[in-house]
Amino acid sequence: MGPPSLPKVTHESNCTAAEDIFNLVIKESATATGKLHFLFLGSMKRRNPARIQDLIGLIHTDYPPALAEDWDNVGLQVGDPAAPLERVLIALDVTEATLAEAESCNVQAIIAHHPLIFRPLKSVTPLDPNSRLLMRAISANIAIIAAHTNLDCGADGLNDWLATRLGIEDAQPLQGAALPLYKLVVYVPVGHQQAVESALFAAGAGTIGAYDHCSFASAGTGRFRPGATSTPFIGTAGQDSTPAEIRLETIVSAECVTKVIDKLRKAHPYEEPAYDLFLLQNRRNDLGLGRIGRLPQALSLHDYARQIAAALGTNSLRLVGDPQRLVRKVACCGGSGTSLLFAAQRQGADLLVTGDVKYHDARNALDLGLALVDAGHFATEVLMVAGLAGKLRVAAQARQLPVEFIESTSGQDPFLSIIP
Ligand SMILES: [Zn+2]
Repeated sequence: MGPPSLPKVTHESNCTAAEDIFNLVIKESATATGKLHFLFLGSMKRRNPARIQDLIGLIHTDYPPALAEDWDNVGLQVGDPAAPLERVLIALDVTEATLAEAESCNVQAIIAHHPLIFRPLKSVTPLDPNSRLLMRAISANIAIIAAHTNLDCGADGLNDWLATRLGIEDAQPLQGAALPLYKLVVYVPVGHQQAVESALFAAGAGTIGAYDHCSFASAGTGRFRPGATSTPFIGTAGQDSTPAEIRLETIVSAECVTKVIDKLRKAHPYEEPAYDLFLLQNRRNDLGLGRIGRLPQALSLHDYARQIAAALGTNSLRLVGDPQRLVRKVACCGGSGTSLLFAAQRQGADLLVTGDVKYHDARNALDLGLALVDAGHFATEVLMVAGLAGKLRVAAQARQLPVEFIESTSGQDPFLSIIP
């Protein structure tokens, strides 16, 4: 005997109401297995009502805002983080068509790749197309969340999905992420190093690539004079102390720096722990923009371009370079990636696949001996809709968040190609 089969759910649009599914599961399970199952599912729904902020938490766990380029604007752009959430639409852009789709699917939020609010707003009036979209989203009570360059740079993010679609194997970031990293130096009295170090590691400090618990310790002598109102752990008010101390160094990423400093203060025995936090110039090589890897076998630029067109579902490609040249080491970047042209050439790529290639980019590529395929901004990024929906469905299920993720079908490339 297998699980009960669900009655067929029919809807006029492509959206399926999450609540309907829930009710059907409850009803069927109650018939098949008795009231116990009914009560379990019913109480699970009441215990975990999802909120917009839960959705933001899901997105930012894998694609933290700190990964975004500094010119970008990601995260919640419109809406109340505490508002309840049942259904989300995932789209490349927020357009009038996207909002109409969101309204017909009765979603409470849209996750878009391209930020609706990008440049500073001076006014919000119906005269401006973007403002009209903002006004419509607000009046329909639909939150807007942008996952842009944080999604581009993240592990298992847009550029990984693009590389996989293009048949690029063992893809690595083409340009390391400018994710802020800090060096934390703290001075700890001898005998307390382990307690402080453990607290820092537990808060997320000390991770370098596949290694964690990374630190360096050196012995020395501290000096301080406690003030009249102090209650020193070592020494006496008004008298210099020179205790044996350990200089403990470790690395901290931007997303956990606040927590690490908080734990440091709690674990350190001193009333006023002395610590330094240095912003580093290091870049993360395991995360970042674009990808570079190899095809299973060398292909002519012409043949590979045909393969790209089929993989991305587009009939409009532009090539730069000799169509008969062989390509094997391939770089890619969804959207506008010609800023990575020199990085691709430096790393020995035969070809860069991206969108929005301008005339002078093409000239530069020819001079560098690098082939280019311009597959279009839309075609190289629209795969984020299915990619992000799949990722968030798994994450929401793991956290028992009853949210339905709907993949937008209204997105269209604004460019049309005409073959005369
Ligand atoms: Zn884009």
